[in-house]
Amino acid sequence: MSKHPRRKRAKRSAKNHGRQRRQLLLKEVRELYQPGSADSDPDAAWHAGLEDELDVPARRGRGKGGSLPSRPTTAVAVPEEGAAPEAGKRNPVAGPELRGRIVAISSGACRVVASGRDFYCILPSELARDQRAAVAVGDEVVFAAHGAGSYRLRRVLPRRTVLSRPDPHNPRREQVIAANIDVAVHVASVVEPPLRPALVDRYLIAVERGGADTVICVNKIDLLADDAERQRQLERLACYRRRAREILPTSAVTGEGLGALGALLAGKTAVFVGHSGVGKSSLLNALSPGLGAATARTSGGKGRHTTTRSCFYRIEGDCRVIDTPGIRELGLWQLTTCELRAYFPDFNQHAAGCRFNNCSHSHEPDCEVREAVNSGAVAQARFDTYLRILASLESGD
Ligand code: GDP
Ligand code: ZN
Repeated sequence: MSKHPRRKRAKRSAKNHGRQRRQLLLKEVRELYQPGSADSDPDAAWHAGLEDELDVPARRGRGKGGSLPSRPTTAVAVPEEGAAPEAGKRNPVAGPELRGRIVAISSGACRVVASGRDFYCILPSELARDQRAAVAVGDEVVFAAHGAGSYRLRRVLPRRTVLSRPDPHNPRREQVIAANIDVAVHVASVVEPPLRPALVDRYLIAVERGGADTVICVNKIDLLADDAERQRQLERLACYRRRAREILPTSAVTGEGLGALGALLAGKTAVFVGHSGVGKSSLLNALSPGLGAATARTSGGKGRHTTTRSCFYRIEGDCRVIDTPGIRELGLWQLTTCELRAYFPDFNQHAAGCRFNNCSHSHEPDCEVREAVNSGAVAQARFDTYLRILASLESGD
């Protein structure tokens, strides 16, 4: 008989508690994917090509202090996926280290694809504590077996690009929406929901700061009554021509613009962003028939929130896509007022004529930028967004 039966019992109960929590986490992460989502596809072909995804260029600069993010020029050689990254390195308790990509995340755990297989990984406490910033769909990670049938994330490899925002639950913390993307496809619809230029501006800034390119899809173009209306709506986005890589009128119904969009995305990792109901999942399904991304129609709800978590898909044309839940408001993570001006270069030539060097263009006398807005040389919509973002930065929202 042990001298300390109570202590032993407490130890056993803590052990059981740990096991139960792990099982709960695994259950939750297994439920992340609804039927039809890409990584629930039993066809291993979906995973094909992961091996060639692991050329990790250096992470792009985050563009602090008024300068735009620097673009990476060098590629960092990394070991092959699935192989032990540091030759022969083994943990005495855990298995050898493996490499993969995060395709889904839930509280305290994530799902990783490596060498054509799915792994459910528990996050170590140091990552779980700040998991909205520490791990994101698209992250390349190192993980290892941790006890029978369970895996544990070891570390997240340096990110090439990020799309992030202040965490809506705690604006003083960062939430990374997607990692390692080449391009963000901002889907905007012209009818229901209506076009929201302010959201376009915010995404353009967030994407550029994170180091990726933006393509704007003006979706549901089929719903416009005639050519004049079409012209009018597209004109509203003309001020973004130099900011976005491409502005494409698209329709998931008629197929307009899909060829051009597919060509732009070929060989890339893209994140689909935009307000809920604009047609992100419908466009994905139209681009890759058979994909089965859940849309408002397939999930039976008009205007319902169809994509509730980011999903990772592999679509035709060797393209990897992260579909995100609709985002109504996009805060800008740690943007300074000085940096904000750098994202409105269309103001620059006029700003040189402002009376004050550091004119914020909001209230100062003799402001040439406001003059340019009055004369139509600067788009009113862009100036309005600039003022709104400026006000939100000044009030600390
Ligand atoms: P998401 O929330 O952005 O993923 O939007 P969904 O793909 O779920 O689409 C929302 C609704 O808009 C659904 O009822 C779709 O059938 C409809 N929809 C999507 N794209 C188009 C389009 O190009 N034209 C028209 N007319 N309807 C569309
Ligand atoms: Zn000014």
